[in-house]
Amino acid sequence: MKNLSTVVIGGGIIGLSIAWRLVREGHQVTVVEKGKVGAEASRVAAGMLAASAEVGFEELELYHLCRESLRIWPEFARELESDSGIQVDYRSNGTLIVAHDADAATALKRGFDFQKENHYPVEWLSREETLDLEPFLSPRIVASVFASEDHAVDNRLVLKGLQRAISNLGGQIIEEAEVLGIVFSGDMVDVQIEGRPPVTANVAVIAAGAWSRQIAGIPTPDVPPVRPVKGQILELKMDRPFELNHVVRGRKAYLVPRSDGRLIVGATSEEMGFDKRMTAGGVFSVLEGAWEMVPGILDLELLGIDVGLRPGSRDHQPIVGYCMDRRLYMATGHYRHGVILSAVTALESAKSILSGKDSPVFGQFSPKRFARHEI
Ligand SMILES: Cc1cc2nc3c(=O)[nH]c(=O)nc-3n(C[C@H](O)[C@H](O)[C@H](O)COP(=O)(O)OP(=O)(O)OC[C@H]3O[C@@H](n4cnc5c(N)ncnc54)[C@H](O)[C@@H]3O)c2cc1C
Repeated sequence: MKNLSTVVIGGGIIGLSIAWRLVREGHQVTVVEKGKVGAEASRVAAGMLAASAEVGFEELELYHLCRESLRIWPEFARELESDSGIQVDYRSNGTLIVAHDADAATALKRGFDFQKENHYPVEWLSREETLDLEPFLSPRIVASVFASEDHAVDNRLVLKGLQRAISNLGGQIIEEAEVLGIVFSGDMVDVQIEGRPPVTANVAVIAAGAWSRQIAGIPTPDVPPVRPVKGQILELKMDRPFELNHVVRGRKAYLVPRSDGRLIVGATSEEMGFDKRMTAGGVFSVLEGAWEMVPGILDLELLGIDVGLRPGSRDHQPIVGYCMDRRLYMATGHYRHGVILSAVTALESAKSILSGKDSPVFGQFSPKRFARHEI
C-alpha cells in the first residue's frame, strides 16, 4: 500500500512496537495515547520472555506463537537499541521453575512430562543442581525445571526505547489525548480525540489494552471481548551478598532479577474490573509465594508496589489482525504475554498493514474468530 498512514490508538508496548516497525519502513504513523505512553500494564509487567514456563496445558498454539516471538526477540532488541540508543537489559540466563515441597514437585513433574512430550527445551534438575545454580533458593526446595530459552527484558527500558525510536524515525506521538471513537469515511477512518481535531488515516490500529472495547464506533462484530485482569507486583532491591541470576518461578509467585540490582516480584491475578487499588492481601500473597522459594527476600528493601491491568480476552489468547472492516486492525488481548509477544505482534502487524494481507502467523488469533458470536 503506497502513501499509507496509520493511527495507533494506545501507547503501550503493543501499540508502540507496531508503530516503530511501521515508521521504520518509512510510513506515516501517529500514536494517540490518553495518558502518558507506556504508563499502564506494559510498564507494570515483569518483563519475562517466558514461553515454556508460562504457557500451560491445552495452549500449544499460544506456546508456538510465544516461541516464534522468543526466536526474533534478540534481533528485535538489537534493532531497537540501535534505533533508540537505549539498552533494554535483555538477559538470556533462562528460567528456573521451582517446586518448594513434595506436592509442588508432583505438579511440576506432570507439567515437565507434558513439556518433554511436546519438545519444550526444558531440563529436570535435582535439588542439588538447582541450589548450585541459585544458592539463595530455600534449602527445602525439592527440584526444579530449567527452561534454558526463557529469558527476560526490562520492559520499562523497552518502552523508553520505543518512544525514542519512533520520534527519531519521524513518527508522531500525541499524549494526554483520549480517543473517544472512530468514524469511517470513504476509504479512510477518522479517529476522534477529546478536545482536539480528529486524526485521519487509512488504517486505525486498536491497541488500547484492557480498554480496547470501549472505543466507540467499532462495528459490533469487531468489538474485542477484552476485560481487565488486575495484577499487583513488587519491586525489591537486591543487596549483596543476596543475589539471583535466573528468573525463578513457583506456583504462586515469580522473581525476575534486573541487571541494575532490582528484583521484580509478582504477581496477583484478580478479576476486579478497572480497580487499581493496592491491597494488603495482594502484597501478602505475592510475598508469601516468593518467600517460600527465596526466604532471603524478607530482608530486602521494598522499592515499590504497582498495579496493572492485563488485557484478557475471552479465550485468553491475543486478538491480532484485520477486522471485518479492513480500515480497522486489532492488536489487543495479550493478557499475560504482551511483553514476550510484542516482537512477533509488531513484525507481523507491520507486514500485514503494509501489504494489506492477513498474517498467516496470527491466523487463528484473528479478531474474526469472535465475529459470529455474541459479545
Ligand atoms: C503484574 C503484571 C505482570 C506482567 N508480566 C508480564 C511478563 O512478565 N511478560 C509478559 O509477556 N507480559 C506480562 N504482563 C502482561 C503485559 O503487561 C500485557 O500483556 C501488555 O502490557 C499489554 O500491552 P498493551 O499495549 O496491549 O496494553 P497497555 O500497556 O495497557 O497499553 C494500552 C494503552 O492504551 C491506552 N488507552 C486506553 N484507552 C485509550 C483511549 N481511549 N485513547 C487513547 N489511549 C488509550 C492506555 O492509556 C494504555 O497506555 C504482565 C502484566 C501485569 C499486569
